[in-house]
Amino acid sequence: MQRLYGLRLVFCLPFLVFALSLPHSCVIVTCPVCGTTAKKIRGIAFAECPKDGLLLNLNATERDYAPTYFDAEYKAQYGKSYLDDHEALRARNTIRLEKIAPLMNAQSHPRVLEVGSAAGFFLGAMRERGHAVQGWEISPTMAKYAKSQSVETECQDFFDGVRKWQKKKMPPFDILALFYVLEHLKEQKTAWENFNLLVRPGGYLLLALPSYGGPTFRFNRLEWTKTHPSDHVVDYAPKTLTRIAPQFGFHAVSISSEGIHPQRFPGGANKLLSYVYRLALKHAPISDTIFAILKRENS
Ligand SMILES: [Zn+2]
Repeated sequence: MQRLYGLRLVFCLPFLVFALSLPHSCVIVTCPVCGTTAKKIRGIAFAECPKDGLLLNLNATERDYAPTYFDAEYKAQYGKSYLDDHEALRARNTIRLEKIAPLMNAQSHPRVLEVGSAAGFFLGAMRERGHAVQGWEISPTMAKYAKSQSVETECQDFFDGVRKWQKKKMPPFDILALFYVLEHLKEQKTAWENFNLLVRPGGYLLLALPSYGGPTFRFNRLEWTKTHPSDHVVDYAPKTLTRIAPQFGFHAVSISSEGIHPQRFPGGANKLLSYVYRLALKHAPISDTIFAILKRENS
């Protein structure tokens, strides 16, 4: 019997080696949202779903968000620690709050959940505006910090959080926010199904995401590939959101540019062009990062 297994192994081995040595262009990958076969993009280890435009990272690696993530790694990427970056983060939140203010307030949409709430800066600002806030944060360091600032925070990942929330039979939230979280999740379809569960009809889903609809992917693809975090499993563009959201009961109310970097566009160092790009960025979701306000359908 053992000899038979040995023979089978010898027979299969060349096929296994062949399969592993295939270039990415020969590997069939399917979209984690709709199951359509994705189309490999020439020259880079990414494939695009032809149906909804989701970009799949073929070399994505899993990682655990150890306590060091918000210290050493954030510092390596942005030049300062997450907590030291408070002012920049506060400024970004102020812009987000200005965008959501005409649509929702503490009376119309009282209960807010942020997944990946980090140090609780956004939730702190929402609380100041009268909302009841709750955060789910995977990093124990950040969860501890947020709690020290009296921002109610559970140290747990998204899917654990949903399981516990369902078990407790809690009501859905009025506002759900995920800033730079969704692109890390391998289970994209489950994530969107959970958004549908977590947000009440008429409630809002707020997403901040890197976008491959921005200038770096369009005009400097080598740089985009070189600097692409390996733990970003997927990439969205505005068109991806408008195509995926309706499949899960949401529609896009607005999608805007989050990062304003005119210098990343061709000739962006030129004063006049920079002015034109800045104006365009203000009015269209054409930057490397986007902020989306999605509304849950009423039925
Ligand atoms: Zn798809």
